[in-house]
Amino acid sequence: MSNVFIDSEEFANEDWELYVGMQFQTIDEAKDIIKKYNLKKDVQCKVTKETSKKYVCECSHKAENGCNWKIQLSKSRMNVTFWVVYIYNETHTCFSN
Ligand SMILES: [Zn+2]
Repeated sequence: MSNVFIDSEEFANEDWELYVGMQFQTIDEAKDIIKKYNLKKDVQCKVTKETSKKYVCECSHKAENGCNWKIQLSKSRMNVTFWVVYIYNETHTCFSN
């Protein structure tokens, strides 16, 4: 099994995407990447759940128009020191109206 950590050069690529299974060494690293991702895509999300084992961020427009964009990270079961993208609904339906 390979660990996929973010390479800033790779992140700079226009086609770079978040994906299920992506791993982060710390939750702060994950938060930083999500923040950069939002800036890059010109979208916003807000944290809807944050515990020592779970971190959920959803589209800021969810309440207004039910956008389903969501990312959920969990502490890896295989290695408790890593955070892994567990659920990722990548499409911002708030763009379609
Ligand atoms: Zn959205």
